[in-house]
Amino acid sequence: MILALFGPPGSGKGTQAKQLIETLGIPQLSTGDMLREAIKQDLPLGIKAKEFMNKGQLVPDALMIELIKERMQEKDCEKGFLLDGFPRTVAQAEALDEMLSGQGLKLDHVVSFQVKERELVDRLAGRIVCSSCGASYHVKTKPPKAEGICDICGGTVIKRDDDKADVVQARLDTFMEATAPVEEYYHKKGRLKKIDALGNESEVLGRILGIINIEA
Ligand code: AMP
Repeated sequence: MILALFGPPGSGKGTQAKQLIETLGIPQLSTGDMLREAIKQDLPLGIKAKEFMNKGQLVPDALMIELIKERMQEKDCEKGFLLDGFPRTVAQAEALDEMLSGQGLKLDHVVSFQVKERELVDRLAGRIVCSSCGASYHVKTKPPKAEGICDICGGTVIKRDDDKADVVQARLDTFMEATAPVEEYYHKKGRLKKIDALGNESEVLGRILGIINIEA
């Protein structure tokens, strides 16, 4: 199965992606995680991407398309994969369709996470993440059991640079301008599945599994 999670920053894509890959047995291709890893390793891609990310802007399409194209060729993607954070522009969506159809494949479902902007700002303002495994927490609603330490892997829990207040609004504005049209692109193709992304993690997971016809 090839699945894409679509939604604004803070809508819970990353959290649901982690649950879904367990259930479906396919890898998570998170372009945000790939870029953060490239930054950590001081790779040329990371150095270029950081400039855009820290301003809440999108990394140029050509870089992102190349990144995902290479990742899709890896062996663990043979049985399908879950895209998290890609595509984020209509150009990326078109390139993805082309890459997949070139291999005789297609995107099965695009799950669009629906959350009100006010809720997103609250979530992003309080979000903290594990710098090792990427697990997501919230200072008020879901703090780690021991302050600053990831419950899952024991890594250090930090605030992402781009979750700081001045960048959050820019990221939401970028979503509205460049990314929201991607929803229309998939709607027209009849592949868009909208879900209400408010509620606890297992409720939202149940809705996603229901809409893609998988029994929990
Ligand atoms: P995320 O972790 O998905 O919120 O991504 C963090 C940041 O990485 C975004 O705000 C963008 O700057 C960049 N990024 C991630 N995925 C993409 C993409 N598909 N296209 C362009 N920029 C991206």
